Order: sequence, then C-alpha cells, then structure tokens
Amino acid sequence: MVECPHLLLENLSTGYAEPRGRRTVSSELNLGIASGEVVMLMGPNGSGKSTLMHTIAGLLPPLSGQVKILGRSLARLGRRDVARALSLVLTERVDGGNMTVWDVVALGRYPYTNFFGKLQREDEKMVSEAIEQSHLKGMEQRLIAELSDGERQRVMVARALAQDTPLILLDEPTAHLDLPSRLDLVLMLRRLAHELGKSMLISTHELDLALSWGDRLWLMDREGKVVSDIPEALVLGGHVGRVFGTEELSYDVERGEFLVQREDLRPICLVAEGIPSEDHRVYWTMHALSRLGYKRSEDTETGLKLVVTATDWQIKDGEEVRSYGSLTDLVSALS
Ligand code: ADP
Ligand code: MG
Repeated sequence: MVECPHLLLENLSTGYAEPRGRRTVSSELNLGIASGEVVMLMGPNGSGKSTLMHTIAGLLPPLSGQVKILGRSLARLGRRDVARALSLVLTERVDGGNMTVWDVVALGRYPYTNFFGKLQREDEKMVSEAIEQSHLKGMEQRLIAELSDGERQRVMVARALAQDTPLILLDEPTAHLDLPSRLDLVLMLRRLAHELGKSMLISTHELDLALSWGDRLWLMDREGKVVSDIPEALVLGGHVGRVFGTEELSYDVERGEFLVQREDLRPICLVAEGIPSEDHRVYWTMHALSRLGYKRSEDTETGLKLVVTATDWQIKDGEEVRSYGSLTDLVSALS
C-alpha cells in the first residue's frame, strides 16, 4: 500500500438508520485503494455493494467509522469538494431526454463552473479530452436516447472523466451490456486507470470479469464482510468458493467454474487418440458429458470408455465399438 492511498476506509460500517433501529449491512471495513489501481468489488446480490458505493460517495452517511479521500475525511468536505474528489457511475439507465453526448459529458464540469454553470475554454477542453479517451469522438452531437447501452455507458464514464476526480466509483457498470461490450468497457476502464493514475472501484456480481480484470478484488460475502487480495489468491484461499458456493454448487478451483454437486454421476473414461489430451475436442466433449450426468474417471476397466479422435467419437463397451461422426450424434446416443 502506498503512503497516501486515494481511498481509505477506516473501521467503516455501512447500513441504514431506520426508524425501527439500525440495519447494519457491512461492519468495520478497513480497506484502501492506491493510485492507478482497479479494484473490483464483487459479491452476491444483496450483499451490500451498492450500500458501500453510496457510503463512499457520500450519498449515505456511515453508521460509524470514516471514508478518507487523499487523506481527507469525506465527512468534512463540502459538496463541491466531494464532487472534485470522486465521481460515481450508476447502473440505472439514464434518461437523457433531449441531451446530446456533449451535454451529458459537460455535466461533469459542474463542480468547477461558476453560479451560471458557464463552461470556460479550459472546461471545454476537458470535455473534449474525456470524449476522446472514452472512444466517443465524432459522436458529440448524438442524442443519449439514441445510443446503444454500451455507448451510453461510455458516455457516463466520459462524464466521470470530465469531472477530473482521483477516484471513480462504478456500480455494476456492465449490468446491461453483452459480453463483448462488457469486456470493452472493463478494458477501457483499466487502461484509463493505469494511464491517468485514477483509482477505480467497480462493483460487479460477475465472477469471470472480476477474477480476470481486477488488480485487486474486494470480495464481499452475504454478511457484508470483505476480504481483499489479488483475485487468484482469493481463489486459492477458498474464499471465492465460500462466498458464492451453495449446497448444490461448489467452486472447482482447477477449472475456475462452478459445478453442480451431484451424487448420481456415472463414470466415463475419456481418452484422446491421435490428438493431444488437452485438445479443444476433448474439453468440449467432457463439457457436454457433464451436462448428461457423467464424470470423468481414470478407470479403464469398468464403465464406459470413450475415445476422441481427430475425426470421430468411439464408444467402447467391452468388444463392441460404435463410432459417431459428430458430437451432436454422440450426445443424442447417450441421452
Ligand atoms: P448489492 O448492491 O450487493 O446487491 P445492496 O447494497 O443493494 O446490495 O443491499 C444490501 C442490503 O441492504 C440488502 O439486504 C438490501 O435489502 C438492503 N437495503 C438496500 N437499500 C436499502 C434501503 N434504502 N433501506 C434499507 N435497506 C436497504
Ligand atoms: Mg447493487
């Protein structure tokens, strides 16, 4: 950890002070984000990611403890100073009305403009730069309402960049996006963080995304507790399995995916012939067989034996051999 992290949470407890009593969501968090670091905040639905984001953004008061940005306590900053310290990108689809891309990105400059909100030349330059950095050049005059979800999300990132804050918080920014747009957005955020030295906190419930692209992961469990480390260390430490696993689902550390726990799996001995055992054909054959209720076994003596070659799939049952020309045919024969 660097000496003065962009964000520091000290004994922070989040939650809601309801009329019938306090409702604590997370308690006693001690976490930090360094300059240029991308932290993924990952946890199941309802664990408290948005509550934490809102608390860090100053929209929800902490139940106790404090949020520090660049060494200064958030509670002591005025609204304008908070807006210069952090920007927040939310999940909700924005209703842009008749606003253009330029208009929305320019909103990011409001903490710097005078009473009338008039942009100076310097502000316009920042808006242009933010648009360029978010790959929106040439789209300045497009209406927000007429953009794709991925483009609209890039506009919200551009607005956050125009706000020129050391810390950017993004609450489930990929929620409405398809896989390629999700990756596009996350890679763009990583590049911006690393090139511009911005700290990013990105919440997601998508395991793959967080494990692959976070410099660090804050893994939040259903009780709102958080462990922080690099993603791989959290996998190896069993934390990912503990947080996301259920009675039926267990996290397979070797494959990096969740497997359904089943007692009734039938053994199948799968061997590659004339192709490497790590060939894609072998992997996807086992993928299909798992769905049919088979588990891979090393035992060549009992049970079914399946040979995968470069051209076919052969089931050997004692002396009898049946060959299938496609995986589809094999699967329908075994179903
Ligand atoms: P996540 O973003 O991880 O899905 P949230 O932070 O939205 O989780 O919710 C965490 C917990 O706080 C949930 O139990 C939720 O019901 C509760 N909660 C969320 N918003 C409020 C609110 N405005 N008042 C009281 N409880 C809330
Ligand atoms: Mg949420």
